[in-house]
Amino acid sequence: MSYISTLKLVLMEKEVLNSAADPMGAAIYDYYVNGNADTLIVHSSMFEDDEIPVEDLFRTLDAMPLVERIALEQAKGRILDVGAGSGCHSIALKELGKTSVAIDISPLSVEVMMQRGLDARQVNLFDESFTEKFDTILMLMNGTGIIGTLDNMPVFFERMKQLLAPGGSILIDSSDLRYLYEEEDGSLMIDLADDYYGQLDYRMEYKDILGEPFDWLYVDFETLAIYAEENGFTTELIEEGDHYDYLAKLTIN
Ligand code: SAH
Repeated sequence: MSYISTLKLVLMEKEVLNSAADPMGAAIYDYYVNGNADTLIVHSSMFEDDEIPVEDLFRTLDAMPLVERIALEQAKGRILDVGAGSGCHSIALKELGKTSVAIDISPLSVEVMMQRGLDARQVNLFDESFTEKFDTILMLMNGTGIIGTLDNMPVFFERMKQLLAPGGSILIDSSDLRYLYEEEDGSLMIDLADDYYGQLDYRMEYKDILGEPFDWLYVDFETLAIYAEENGFTTELIEEGDHYDYLAKLTIN
């Protein structure tokens, strides 16, 4: 079996989540129904535990960071909102008079999106039985996270070629995590023998629900552009945010 088809199998195994192991979806559901939620905790072997403010997952257009607002402005035609969460970007698109299909592996998030009147489907981005075509593929809030690791880049770009309509493009944001490793003199404390510094392992917890661990990729613009080029895509830097974050546009060569 080829390298790419083996990787595909590994990714496909993830499929979608079960509602008993969907911590983020449970937090989104609680917030939608009750107007508040408990603490959504993110564990990682590399960092101290962190918290995701659940209300941030319901942010409105005016509260979104610049790179997200620009992505929503530039999105056109038939739009796919990937890893859509509470559906905040699809709601904003609707307000801008645009139409999107929102996909997520989280059953509870998809339930909330449907209740919010969105065209939402419980679909894993890597599931090839989802065969529709889109003019814009939106991947926001560190959209590169879903790629998981740099090794998955070839599978990701193959999949993008299947989902993009002719002339279509991907709008994706990420951050360069180099600031976590910067010394006072500006030099970087990175061990080159380690994995790429933006590859993290996460595990979410909400109330008594502990999710499965998953890989989550942050990637600097130059590295993204190199992988895109190798896989037949052109990368354009659309906007830089104020904290090492950026929005990129990827189009098929
Ligand atoms: N885009 C939203 C949510 C970001 S959190 C926002 O900006 O607020 C990332 C989301 O991606 C989660 O809801 C998670 O369930 C979803 N996700 C992770 N892997 C996925 C995959 N392979 N396919 C589809 N959705 C995925």
